[in-house]
Order: sequence, then C-alpha cells, then structure tokens
Amino acid sequence: MEECSVLIVGGGPAGLSVARAIGRGAVVVHKDAEIGLPVRTSGGSWKKHIDALGLPRHLYQHINTLRFASAGEELLFDFDSDFPVVLDITGTYRYLANLATKQGAEIRCRQKFTEVSQQADDFVVSTIASGGASYQIKSKFVIDASGYWRSVLPVIDPTPYSRYGIGAEYEFRDLSDRRDIATLLVGSRFTNPGYGWIFPTNQQTIRVGVGHARPDTLLSPKVSLDRLMKSELLETLNVHAGSLVSKHGGIIPNWGANKIFGANRIVGVGDAVGQALPLVGEGIRYCIETGNLVGKLLADTLKQGTPPSVMLSAYTKWWNKRYRTSFSASQWINERISTYDDASWDRSLRRLRHLRPDDVASLLQADVGAGTALRVMMSNRDLPIKLIRGLVGSRGA
Ligand SMILES: Cc1cc2nc3c(=O)[nH]c(=O)nc-3n(C[C@H](O)[C@H](O)[C@H](O)COP(=O)(O)OP(=O)(O)OC[C@H]3O[C@@H](n4cnc5c(N)ncnc54)[C@H](O)[C@@H]3O)c2cc1C
Repeated sequence: MEECSVLIVGGGPAGLSVARAIGRGAVVVHKDAEIGLPVRTSGGSWKKHIDALGLPRHLYQHINTLRFASAGEELLFDFDSDFPVVLDITGTYRYLANLATKQGAEIRCRQKFTEVSQQADDFVVSTIASGGASYQIKSKFVIDASGYWRSVLPVIDPTPYSRYGIGAEYEFRDLSDRRDIATLLVGSRFTNPGYGWIFPTNQQTIRVGVGHARPDTLLSPKVSLDRLMKSELLETLNVHAGSLVSKHGGIIPNWGANKIFGANRIVGVGDAVGQALPLVGEGIRYCIETGNLVGKLLADTLKQGTPPSVMLSAYTKWWNKRYRTSFSASQWINERISTYDDASWDRSLRRLRHLRPDDVASLLQADVGAGTALRVMMSNRDLPIKLIRGLVGSRGA
C-alpha cells in the first residue's frame, strides 16, 4: 500500500498552506480537475494581512474606497492606511500550489477522498477515488481541508453544520469609470434581503454577488442576483457591467470556529472547522495563516515523534488566543444582522457614518482596539451591553 507522512484532503488555501509548510511527505488530494477553478469565492481581504502572508502585489486589486448601500442610505469611506483588496482567486491558489510543490509536496487533482478505511494509534488508511477506480493510502496524519464538504471530520464529529451562507456571483467585464471602489449591499432594495457585494478585480472585471444565510432564509441567492442584475440599481451606483465572463457559487460555514479541531491523527483546518469570519465571510487569509501554522506543527511532530495530542493542543491554544473572541463576537453580530429589515440597516448605516475609515476597517476585521470600541459605543450606546450578553451566552452554549 502507498504511504505518505500527511494526507491533505482539499487543495484550497488551507490545504495548500499546510502542504507548503510540510513539503516532502505531504500529498494533497483534490477532487476538482485543477487548482483554483471553479471559483467558489470572492476574494475580499485586507492589504496588511495579505502582505504579511507574503502574497505578491500582482495577485490583488487595491481598493481605495468602500461603499455601503442600503434601501435608504449610502456611505463612502476613503481609506488612507488599512486598505481593502480583492484577490485574484485562481492566481492566488495556483501561487500557493506552486510554493507547496517547490517544497516537495505532491498535489493530485481529480482524486477524491471517500473514507477512512482503518485507524490505528500510529496511522490512518484512507480510500481515494480516481478515474473510476480507487486506491488506499496510509499516512501518519489526515488533514481535512475540504472546506464546506468536511469530507473527513464526520469520522470524529458527526454534528452537521448548523448555520451557513450560500452565495451566487457573476463576473463581468468592468466598464465602470472607477476601479478602486468596492461596494457592500444590504437590505431588500438590492438583495432581497441578504447581502451583496460588488468587487472590482485586477483582471478588468467586476464580481457582483449575493449571499443568503441558512437557516434564516430559504431564498435562492441566484434568483436574488438575477433580480439585482435585471434592475437598474447597479447603474445608480455608477457600476457598469459588460459581458458575462463566468458564474460562481459557493457555501461558507457561518457557525463560528469549531471548539475542537481534531482528534488523534485527524485534524481539520480552514472552512472544514469554521475558520471564516462570520461577520463578512472572510476566510482566505485565516485559512492560509492557520494552514501555515498547522503545517509547521505537524512537521515538528513528525520530526520529534511527539504524540498528536501535543500538536492539537498547541493548535487549539493558538487559535483561542488569537481569534476565539473575535470570532464569537462576529458570530453574535452575524446572527443578529441576518434578520435586519430595511429600517434597521438604514439606522446602522447612519451610525457608521460617525466612524473613521480605519474604525470601519477594524470593525469589518473584528479586530477592535480601545479607540474604535469607544467610538462605536458613542454611536450606539446600547451595543456594549448587548454584545457582552451575546458573548456570555455563546460561551455558555
Ligand atoms: C460566496 C462566497 C463568497 C466568499 N467571499 C470571500 C471573500 O470575499 N474573502 C474571503 O477571504 N473569503 C471569502 N469566502 C470564504 C472563502 O472562500 C473560504 O473561507 C475559503 O475558500 C476556505 O478555504 P479552504 O481551503 O478551507 O476550503 P476550500 O476553498 O473550499 O477548498 C477545499 C477544496 O477541497 C476540495 N474537496 C472537497 N471535498 C473533497 C474530497 N472528498 N476529496 C478531495 N478534495 C475535496 C474542494 O473541491 C475544494 O476545492 C467566500 C465564500 C463564499 C462561499
């Protein structure tokens, strides 16, 4: 039987980052025909985080202005330091794949993990389907980086997703005058209700998308997106979509990060364990950063022969310290805003009007320092007590 040190299921940003950090001995099985296609995401992120991860400048579109539009309000924030960016998804994922293969990792496309066939104290045997046949592979660890599909983790935790976002997006040639402005849409006027986005890319295209939260609504994001595209509303925002380039769709977990990221020799990373920020559905940078960390911890574990529990505990402690609170707060907000009506959205946007662009950037990143917190409290005096109640409630759950 074939053997490798670490079998990684899924060649998205999380799995590819784990593979890069491990290098030789890592095998990625990826069910799609190629890395980075089809596109299932939008690529909004923040320059400071993307630069810190070492992704080169040609992989993103720089955004100077962020616009919020609701039924009755429109707000524009011009950034001068903490800039948003829009990633070239296919280019970024292929860049990560290249780094991984340069380090000696092997990436196998059109190969689908189907089951864990055997588990022992010191190895796992997995079954992989490939071109109508299947084979088995024995590894010291199996990493579930399969995103929403969560293909491996049910072996250790069968609990299904309780909450997720489902999105539809069209990419058009961009005929707009300004290519440095991204827009977030909220409320029934644009998105029926739900949320939407208009992101210019560095390929002279523009991505227009709509997302709906499950189980809060059963509306189809594709129907809502078609409705938006048939309306004249984009023109009122000076957004001019040319010919259609591609259609995308995807599902994102929205239940906050899992409490437990694995057991014994099966470890989850990325969307498979809910590591996308629930507030705005930003996951890519978290997946890369966490994938890097998990890969390094695994490489050390393999070298030193320490038990898997040591690695899992270091991983969980790192996550809890770095992101647990911001993810819990963001989850709490996500659950409230998904039921907002137009009046609530208009009111929220009027409150945001008092904030500085950097405060808005901090809020969207759920990375709120004392200064921003104070200014947010001044603009919404009953928020702190509600938020504390929400956090205490979510911890106790
Ligand atoms: C509509 C939408 C919009 C989004 N917008 C943004 C955004 O603007 N910015 C942002 O940062 N994030 C965004 N996200 C979130 C982001 O896409 C995810 O957080 C990120 O892609 C998760 O990466 P991952 O590597 O964990 O999983 P994925 O990117 O989902 O990759 C997992 C891969 O595993 C493969 N796979 C699944 N099962 C198997 C199997 N059994 N065997 C082999 N391979 C398998 C899949 O084909 C998939 O390609 C969005 C998500 C959606 C759905």
